[in-house]
Amino acid sequence: MMIENLQEQNLFSDNQPPGVWIEVILPLAIPKTYTYSVPPELNNKIQIGCRAEVVFGKNKKYAGIIKLICKTKPAYETKDIVSIIDDEPVVYPKQLELWKWISEYYMCTEGEVMAAALPTHLKLSSEVILIYNEEYGDDFSDLDNEEYLIAEALLLKKELKLAEVQLVADIIHVYPLIKRLIDKKVCFVWEAFTDKYKEKKENFVTLNPEYSSDEKLSDLVNNFKAPKQMELLLSFLHLLKTEGEVSQASLLKKSGATVAQLKGLADKNILFVEKRSVDRIRSLPKKMEVNFELNSFQEKALVEIGIALSKKDVCLLHGITSSGKTQLYVKQIEKFINEGKQVLYLLPEITLTAQIIRRLQLNFGGNIAIYHSKFNNNERVELWNKIKTGELKIILGARSALFLPFKNLGLIIIDEEHDPSFKQQEPAPRYNARDAAVYYASLFKAKVLMGSATPSVESYYNALKDKYSLVALTERYGGVKLPEIKIIDTKTVAASKKGKVMISPQLKAAIENALQNDRQVILFQNRRGYAPFLICRTCGFIPQCENCAVTLTLHKYSNKLHCHYCGNTYPKLITCPACGSVNWMEKNFGTEKIEEELTEDFPRNRIARMDVDAVKGKHAHDTLIKLFEQHRIDILAGTQMVVKGLDFEKVSLVGILDADGLLSFADFRVNERAFQLMEQVSGRAGRKTEQGLVLIQASKTDHPVLSFVQLHDYQKFYENEISMRKQFFYPPYSRLIRLILKHKIKEIVQDAAEILGSLVKKDFPHLAGPAAPVVNRVRSLYLMEILLKLPKDAAHLQSQKKVIGNYINLLKAEKRFRSVVIIADVDPV
Ligand SMILES: [Zn+2]
Ligand SMILES: [Zn+2]
Repeated sequence: MMIENLQEQNLFSDNQPPGVWIEVILPLAIPKTYTYSVPPELNNKIQIGCRAEVVFGKNKKYAGIIKLICKTKPAYETKDIVSIIDDEPVVYPKQLELWKWISEYYMCTEGEVMAAALPTHLKLSSEVILIYNEEYGDDFSDLDNEEYLIAEALLLKKELKLAEVQLVADIIHVYPLIKRLIDKKVCFVWEAFTDKYKEKKENFVTLNPEYSSDEKLSDLVNNFKAPKQMELLLSFLHLLKTEGEVSQASLLKKSGATVAQLKGLADKNILFVEKRSVDRIRSLPKKMEVNFELNSFQEKALVEIGIALSKKDVCLLHGITSSGKTQLYVKQIEKFINEGKQVLYLLPEITLTAQIIRRLQLNFGGNIAIYHSKFNNNERVELWNKIKTGELKIILGARSALFLPFKNLGLIIIDEEHDPSFKQQEPAPRYNARDAAVYYASLFKAKVLMGSATPSVESYYNALKDKYSLVALTERYGGVKLPEIKIIDTKTVAASKKGKVMISPQLKAAIENALQNDRQVILFQNRRGYAPFLICRTCGFIPQCENCAVTLTLHKYSNKLHCHYCGNTYPKLITCPACGSVNWMEKNFGTEKIEEELTEDFPRNRIARMDVDAVKGKHAHDTLIKLFEQHRIDILAGTQMVVKGLDFEKVSLVGILDADGLLSFADFRVNERAFQLMEQVSGRAGRKTEQGLVLIQASKTDHPVLSFVQLHDYQKFYENEISMRKQFFYPPYSRLIRLILKHKIKEIVQDAAEILGSLVKKDFPHLAGPAAPVVNRVRSLYLMEILLKLPKDAAHLQSQKKVIGNYINLLKAEKRFRSVVIIADVDPV
């Protein structure tokens, strides 16, 4: 947006000098946007969505996003901007609208949304540190004088603060210079609080595209002379088929060939060997091959989705586990791509595995890209730009992919829409990507397709109330039967055994049986570590974290006590600090203990554990999935990581070890979460020719949720749940805002919560608290909570949030409460 004809503007303003001002969003938690004046020489460079270099506070510099251009002078003195960094906007107005909506709806600042939305390389401030890119080398012939100065300083010092860059360059307009250096890949921006990213490179082997047709390939294979190379080639083709891509290491290992033999094939131009980053998004050809057949149930659902989306903007696809929802998504994506639109495919981070990526790349080749928090900053900026120009059509990503600068969005798919990880907990913006996606789509007049085997109560309610349309897919793909579910009463087992039952005799027998039939087993326990708490048998002392009001979990791998809230570790206690005895009892069990018992009980089988401790490395999760897929693991024991939408051919048995634990959380969503987890993990059992078996260990065997799971009856579950929600005025009948107060002194936070509670009570009669949450101290801060229930159809939702905000400000204006942290969490999960 150019500023045209300033003289003309001047005619209409009353005695104001001509000028241009811009409102800038700074990546900070300041409540409002900030206004700057634009010096005349920069007037023709300002555009909404571009970054401007500005000074904020005494001498801190930031790259802020231009939100608004105005020609009337504000009532206060403004500072000039320093420079304009970009020639092209980095975001479009629609993204800025999304930021604004998120900041208003989720009660945070636009700056906080900006900080979450932009990749690191686009966020510049005085604190930012530039790291020299070793790969650039020391040939600076492409650089101009200013660039050269900085590059040389970086080469010597390896890193520079932006403030130092300023000194070296001795110019005012530093940020545009830095942008050029980043664009030219001379340096990176380093984030202080994230792990340093180290690129891992490996040799990959590909086939000369000349042989990509079956005919050419069989010609080649049939007329091959050298037997060793022939073997190598066949190994390559086999790996390519099973793995999708072939690394040199895996090829040499499989074929037993030498590097020299591989080089022979490379010299003949049959195979290519190239070094590339193992994470690098492969540059696949931009083809589209959606040529699989749907079964009749999917076909019917596909037609229904088409009709549904023509009538309503949001469609909920309720497809039971393994019903083939992904294939329907693929067909939908194809349709929108053919119309020239972009598609965003959102899924929970943990399901963003090589398995789903391979599946989609098979259909869309290089048209699909993945936006992943594990990718390095350069790659993220590269993707950002390709989406902005519309070059990239399909993006697969977790919740933060919502912020990408789509140009022409046609469809958003939200797979596993019930998953709580779509909601960001910490820090602000505490947004739910599923709900924000519905708003974002509306800006483009785009469609939303949500899918789940166990829809969230809110989404299902919306579908039944005709806000969304609903399509059901009730047959599993390939005629696979839903698994049989049996409940094992641990009370009867416990009587004969001491302590909590971990693996009952019935479950043990079923595992033996499955293994004998060459099948695989998944065991699910939602607690990691070895023993969730220890207790002194003599005096009852329980070790707790010094910073948090939680019991410590014993981890065997580290032989330490861990706090799962703040991450602190403590040495394992030998003697009780209270009474000095050495008589400890381990209470309850986590995944480590299960793994240990399995290793004892099944010494000849291959056992693996899947939880955040076991999959710490960047590729550990994918590797574990791959090993299990290839049946190189017999029993997989894990936390909810094993639950998520993975398809394994040979799993015949699933064990849920502690259903009581799932059903005993103090949260109104406890039944919903428990049903979802149990139904989803059950869905991993069973294959084409045989029905799977699920064994659930529980002591409260008459819990209604267990019977809904046993019958795979989502409808019954929903009816039961929705009537309770109505009775207790919980969502979807109300909207929740949770106010969380934190302070290191207990009395202060209690007093603050009392006062805030009495203030908001005037306007919000449906209120719970103030009360201390179950865990009332985390990271040395005491917590208090107030839960507000707002009527759902309140036309004044926005103004009500302002009222709450005002009360918070009122409280914080008081000196005693200034340092109390107050968080408003809208639609908490
Ligand atoms: Zn003791
Ligand atoms: Zn702690």
